[in-house]
Amino acid sequence: MRLLNLAGRPALAVAGGGAIGVATASGDRFGPGFASVYERWDDFRAWASTVERGAHPVVAVDDDLLGPPVPRPSQVFAIGLNYLAHVAEGGSALPEQPMVFTKFPASVTGPHDDIEVPPGSVDYEVELVVVVGRWTHKITPDRAWAHVAGLTAGQDLSERELQIHGPAPQQHNLAKSHTGFSPIGPALVTPDEFADPDDIGLRTVLNGVEVQSGRTSDMVFGVAELISYLSGFLPLLPGDLVFTGTPAGIGWTRDPKLLLGPGDELVTEVEGIGEMRNRFVAGSPAPVWKEADRAVV
Ligand code: ZN
Repeated sequence: MRLLNLAGRPALAVAGGGAIGVATASGDRFGPGFASVYERWDDFRAWASTVERGAHPVVAVDDDLLGPPVPRPSQVFAIGLNYLAHVAEGGSALPEQPMVFTKFPASVTGPHDDIEVPPGSVDYEVELVVVVGRWTHKITPDRAWAHVAGLTAGQDLSERELQIHGPAPQQHNLAKSHTGFSPIGPALVTPDEFADPDDIGLRTVLNGVEVQSGRTSDMVFGVAELISYLSGFLPLLPGDLVFTGTPAGIGWTRDPKLLLGPGDELVTEVEGIGEMRNRFVAGSPAPVWKEADRAVV
């Protein structure tokens, strides 16, 4: 099953093109928002499996109307240093347990949205993004895939100066949460649609040139291990996102550095899921924090 966010509403993609609106087809049992879909995911899956193409109106899918398949996740987890070649390019040691940070949920944006470039050094990171489908607390890896609603493509956009040179401990969370820094899409695809959901190709193409390419089978900690690990600390909630790490090829560690600026077009491809196409635009000014302006107490 492929679930879309079409103009802010859930829609089922139809083989051969087009989509069926969930709220209309289900007689408002699910939708028009996404909360009812993720909070009752098992019911939704069961209902969706009964939907037949000829029984409901099929609308065209305009890429510009596609939003993030989870527009308002409660929690967004992200994993750093999770591909061997990426660990090596950054000169870090291999982590003995998952390296976890958050991307604040309001940074989520759609697969074809423009993204403002803030001051600093903005970099790309293609990632497979896991969408949680059930209340998930203290589960073992062998049960983890059953708690996954589906997979989508994402970019863990990152402002490297704050991430790396900010006050210690470094400000990963803010540096990766500027407005629009978490595009996801173009669809949520259920795990059964993949020949092997632990071996999926993913790549980034910047202005027509491939800059990242990898396979999720190269992850240090796989999807099931990550879900199990996180669930040991706190419950994962339906609709939560887990960005699972990026393969090698980021711009920051290149010589010279390859950074994103206004006018750049970033294409993000994940095998079996599809393509996001985000364009970067000049950012509007934000208040500048200056130490000198602080009142002396
Ligand atoms: Zn990342």
